Amino acid sequence: MIPMTEHSPPAAAASSANVALRLPPAVWAVAVLAALSLPLWFRGEFILFLATRAGVMMLVAVGLNVLTGYAGQVSLGHGALVAIGSYTTALLMVDAHWSFWLAALAGMAAAALAGLVMALPALRLSTWYFALVTLTFAQVVTDLLVEMRGLTGGFSGVVGIPAPTIGGQPLSAAQLYVAVAACVVLAFWGTRNLVRSRLGRGMVAARDNPLAATASGISLLRIKLFAFAISAALAGLAGGFYAVQNTVITPEDFSVDFSIFFLLVIVIGGLGKLWGPVIGTLIFFLLPELLGALQSWRLMVYGVMLLVLMLFAPNGIMGMKIWRRWNIRSTDVDLDESHDVHNAPVARLTLTVCGLQKHFGGVKALNGCALTAEAGHTHALVGPNGSGKTTTLNVISGFIRSDQGNVLLGETDVSGLAPHEIARLGVGRTFQTPKLLNEMTVLDNVRLGGFVSEQATAAEIVLGLPRAHRDQRQSAAAAMTLLRFVGLAGLAHALAGDLPHGQQRLVEIARALAGRPSLLLLDEPAAGLSMDELDRLGALIEAIAAQGTTVLIVEHHLELIARVSRSVTVLDRGMVLAAGTPGEVFSNLEVERAYMGREGTGGSR
Ligand code: ADP
Ligand code: MG
Repeated sequence: MIPMTEHSPPAAAASSANVALRLPPAVWAVAVLAALSLPLWFRGEFILFLATRAGVMMLVAVGLNVLTGYAGQVSLGHGALVAIGSYTTALLMVDAHWSFWLAALAGMAAAALAGLVMALPALRLSTWYFALVTLTFAQVVTDLLVEMRGLTGGFSGVVGIPAPTIGGQPLSAAQLYVAVAACVVLAFWGTRNLVRSRLGRGMVAARDNPLAATASGISLLRIKLFAFAISAALAGLAGGFYAVQNTVITPEDFSVDFSIFFLLVIVIGGLGKLWGPVIGTLIFFLLPELLGALQSWRLMVYGVMLLVLMLFAPNGIMGMKIWRRWNIRSTDVDLDESHDVHNAPVARLTLTVCGLQKHFGGVKALNGCALTAEAGHTHALVGPNGSGKTTTLNVISGFIRSDQGNVLLGETDVSGLAPHEIARLGVGRTFQTPKLLNEMTVLDNVRLGGFVSEQATAAEIVLGLPRAHRDQRQSAAAAMTLLRFVGLAGLAHALAGDLPHGQQRLVEIARALAGRPSLLLLDEPAAGLSMDELDRLGALIEAIAAQGTTVLIVEHHLELIARVSRSVTVLDRGMVLAAGTPGEVFSNLEVERAYMGREGTGGSR
């Protein structure tokens, strides 16, 4: 580690927010129980029915929030997944005499499977095209429910769905409410564990900055499919409860406006906010129902509500400024405690690039680019603007596929692998313009980089098992250590988007280091840095290489290059113009003419 002076924490408000509003769990538990038991005190059937239905809606909304709010996949077809869960549960109970609990599990599985089928186009289409596909999916499902008369009963649906039983005793309406409420609490708690874990950070990264996610080793495909499966399973469970509460289900129950209703609920509640779907359901579903006397004004109430929200809370109720302190929380870990960060040495690997060719239409960006970066040393790649430096880094890290040529990492040929696979092999990178998650804290941005090294499985994370907690503690401690390393520990709880560019670059370097890379690719890290920061960057790069990481740096700053790098390759029009030690290369006349000359005239062609 190198000694570095830390920046003073200008975002003191943000870090103190971290302790504000944190009630003891017991207080929370009592408050939640009290709120949930409210409907039981009113003996009225109607209140119980409404409360149970609200719980069912909440289950769907909580799941949809994971998919749309966190993973950024807009689904207009969630009602169809509820329908699939509902019909599966109902038919297994009525026709095959399964117990509700088993049938509901089957309903969840069926919905999850259907969700994955619905997801397939999402992997190719942009958000809004995909949303239209989900809408069509919902239409097809309702049509099938009508057409497959033999199985589903057509228009008249499934009737005589029995109540769930426990020990042979059918549940009363109050008991059913308790069961639904328990499931809502569990679902809420599970998603809370999920969104605060590496998977939550990964979903948000996939939504807001796919390049950053991929560079951290996250497979966009897998994380989206995961979000679909979770959210569809919850919709399926809700469907099961819907069936037994209603005792009759028909295709009309699951029309397209049913699907759109859930989207409205989570948008109004606040997309990607934990409490969003809860608040959204209470306001959008329960409030109008309770305004019974005003039924005829209902549409008007909705309209005014939407208008007011659009004006005063464009990010939904839980996205309002007053919740800011509540929402900015990187971690539940007390960072003052010292946790052991395992510091195994990184694998030392040499990077060998040969014969890279890359065309972009008529532009030949790379024309035989080749270089060798020795293990544990820094190699610089220089050249005029447009000479193919960034393209070279993109090919090495797999973001662009070269037409010809190879990239060897140690003995492994990584050419042709997907970028997240290359990241997992130990290649970290930064981008010419920093790619951070602006709405996330600095600490969580860095933790994202450690995505691959965390060990808890999705099930362990959702259930909050010990390994998930250990991961949380370790990733936070490791990120904090890295922030100290780059001199930004004081900004751990600031929002990344609030930082100036120079510091964002350092955060990005810390994020890349969190993956414990064998090879670190830096694309113009010194651009826009002050002399002071430049000096710190130099020390930082030296320290990184000293830990055994091979560094490939693209840079214009010749003094910095001379200081940190052992060897240099000069590119011009995608070709190697010169290579050698900094001393040799910079005294080369040809280089001076091609590179320095142009640099003097603005550095571009
Ligand atoms: P450098 O990083 O050395 O400034 P780049 O590698 O970014 O240069 O670009 C090399 C050449 O390839 C430039 O002429 C640039 O316009 C072109 N280029 C780079 N990326 C793309 C792309 N995605 N599509 C089309 N042309 C590109
Ligand atoms: Mg570039």
